Amino acid sequence: MRNPVEGWSKPQLAEFLAFVSSFTEEKSAMRGGVERAAEVLDAEVGALVRGGSVEASIGFASAEVPEEKLLAVASGGGYAVEVLGLGTCVAAAAALDDGQNGQLIVARCGDDAFSQEALDLLRGMAGVLALVLKMLRALEGERSLRERSGHEIGERRKAEQQLAHQTIHDVLTGLPNRTLLRDRVEHALERSKRDASTVGILFVDLDDFKAINESLGSPVGDRLLVQVAGRLGETLRSSDTKARFGGQTLSCWGGDEFVVLCENLNSEQNAIRVAERIAAALAPPFLLESSELRITASIGIAVTSAGQSTRDELIHDADTAMHRAKERGRDRYEFFDADLRARVVGRLNLERELGQAIGCDDLRLVYQPIVSLADGGVVGVEALVRWQHPERGLLAPAEFIPLAEESQLIVDLGTWVLEEACRQSARWQQPDPDRPSLRVSVNLSARQLTDALPEIVGNALRRTGVHPTRLWLELTETLLMETAQSATDILAALRALGVRIALDDFGTGYSSLNYLQRFPLDILKLDRSFISRLGSEPSAFMIVAATIDLGRALGMSVVAEGVETPEQLQCLRDLDCHFAQGFHFARPQRPEAIPDLVSGRLPSQDPNQPPP
Ligand code: C2E
Ligand code: CA
Ligand code: CA
Repeated sequence: MRNPVEGWSKPQLAEFLAFVSSFTEEKSAMRGGVERAAEVLDAEVGALVRGGSVEASIGFASAEVPEEKLLAVASGGGYAVEVLGLGTCVAAAAALDDGQNGQLIVARCGDDAFSQEALDLLRGMAGVLALVLKMLRALEGERSLRERSGHEIGERRKAEQQLAHQTIHDVLTGLPNRTLLRDRVEHALERSKRDASTVGILFVDLDDFKAINESLGSPVGDRLLVQVAGRLGETLRSSDTKARFGGQTLSCWGGDEFVVLCENLNSEQNAIRVAERIAAALAPPFLLESSELRITASIGIAVTSAGQSTRDELIHDADTAMHRAKERGRDRYEFFDADLRARVVGRLNLERELGQAIGCDDLRLVYQPIVSLADGGVVGVEALVRWQHPERGLLAPAEFIPLAEESQLIVDLGTWVLEEACRQSARWQQPDPDRPSLRVSVNLSARQLTDALPEIVGNALRRTGVHPTRLWLELTETLLMETAQSATDILAALRALGVRIALDDFGTGYSSLNYLQRFPLDILKLDRSFISRLGSEPSAFMIVAATIDLGRALGMSVVAEGVETPEQLQCLRDLDCHFAQGFHFARPQRPEAIPDLVSGRLPSQDPNQPPP
C-alpha cells in the first residue's frame, strides 16, 4: 500500500504528528463532541464531497461555510488548527460508526477553495488518521481484554491476531474488507504490469437489499449477507473457477456490496464468466426464518490489461458500471466500457458457437500442396482449418484461432484437426508402394504443447493407421519460447513416435539459432515475408540464401512459404531450396482436389480466385 505521507516535508510531518498525538491524548474527551461536530457539518453543509482513504473518509466543507458554523464545529470538539501550511482549518476527527470508520472533517476558514494539492494532502492525512484509529482500537481492545482475563500474554497475542484480522476483514462476513482488497488490487496491478496480464474488478451489489432489511429486520439482513458471502466464496474458490479464470479475491466492500478482484483473467470474456457464476450462485432461494428469499445482484465490471488504470480508478469504474446495471433494470452485469462490452460479448458468442462447431460438421480442413523444387512433384499438403459459420459464412483461421487460443477450446479444435487430417491422409493412402505417400502437415498452438500431446498424436495415428513419418507437426518459435522448459521432452516424445517436426514462420520471431540447436527439428519453413521480398530486396535474398544453407548444414529440409511468382520460384531453385508452397502452385484446396494435384494436374491458377 502506498505510504499516505509519502512526499511530505519534515515540518509537515512534525506538525501532523503533533496534531495526531494531541488527538490521541484527548480522544476520549473529544469523541462525543466531534460526533456532534460531524453532525453539524453534515446537516448544515449538506452533501459533503466524500473521498479519500479506506477507513478514514474525509469530508470537505465548502468555502461558503459561515464562520459561526466553523466555530460551532470547533467548540463542539473539533480542532482549529493550522494544518500543513494550508491556512487555518477546522479539523474534526473521530472514530465514528462504533469505532469502525474514522472520519476527518475539515472545513476551511476563509474564502478560497482548497487546491488540488491541498486535497491530496488532506486525503493523505485521512490515511494516516485511519492508521492511528487502528492503533487506538488495538490499545483499547488490548486493555479491555487484559482487564477481563488473567492469561495476559496469551490473550494479548490473541487480541493482536484478532485485531490484525479485524482491521483487514469484514466483521460480519469475515471476508477481506476494503483495506485488504485495495492492497490486493494494488499488488495485482503491479504484477499485471510486469507480465502484461489482465486484472478485472467485479462490483457486486445486491438488488433490493434495503427493502429486505427494512421489512424483515437487520438481523435477518445480516444472516442473508453471511449466506451470500458463503455462496460467492464457494463458487469462486472452486478449483474449476480457479483453473479457468485465475485467482480471485472476494471482499466485502461494506453493507450489501461485494467486490471481486480477478487476476490473470486471460481474456475479458472470462470476467463475464465469473459474473455469470456469481449470478448462478445467487439464483437458488435463500432459506431464512423458514421462509424462502430470492435475491439478485447488479454487477459492474472493469478490466485493465497491462495496468493502464490505477487501483482507485479501476474500483471506481466497476462501481460506475454497477450503477449502470442498476439503471438498466438490475439482475445483470455491465461493463464500464460500452465498446468493450460489445466486443467482449461478440467474442464470447463466437467462442460459444465455435465450441459447438467443433462437435458438429461446421469445421473443415483445406489442404495446400507442398511442392518439391527438384522435380515439381507434390510431396505433401498443409492442413488449414476453416469454419463454415451458419450466418457469417466461411471464416479464415485468423478470425477464430486467436479466440480459441485464449481458452482450452484450442486443444479440442487442435485435436479435431489432427484426427481429421490423419483420417484424410489415410483416405489418400497410396496403394502403389513405390510412390512415396503424401505427407500431411498440421499446425499446433502453444496450449497444445503439453505432456498429453504425444498420446493424442499417437492415438490419432493408431486410429487412422497413418504411418508416423507421414505426419508433420508445425510449431512456431514463439510457441517454443513460451514452453521452452518442457518443450524439449515433448518434442523428443513426438519424435520417438516417428513424427516430423517443422519450425513454422521462420524469420518472424526471434529467429534465434539457439532454437535450431536446442530442439530436435526436421524442417524449417521460411516465412512468406522473406519470399515476397525476394527479387526486390537484396537483403531478403541474402537471408533466404543463408537460411537455406543453415538448414542444410543442420540436416533440415527447408520449405519456402508463400511463393506467388515465377521469379520467386526461379530464385529459390537457384538457391537449391528443397520445397515450396504458395499461390503460385496452388491455393489451399478441398480434399477432393488433392489426388489430381498429386498426379501432376495442377489446377489453373487464377490469381483473383478467392482461397476456399
Ligand atoms: P500458416 O501456418 O503460416 O499457414 C499458411 C497461410 O498462408 C495460410 O493462411 C495460407 O492460405 C497462406 N498462404 C499460402 N500460400 C500463400 C501465398 O502464396 N500468398 C499468401 N498471401 N498467402 C499464402 P490461412 O489458411 O489463412 O492460415 C493462417 C494461419 O492460421 C496459419 O498460418 C496458421 O498459423 C493458422 N492455422 C491454420 N490452420 C490451423 C490449425 O488447424 N491449427 C492451428 N493451431 N493454427 C492454424
Ligand atoms: Ca503452418
Ligand atoms: Ca507459416
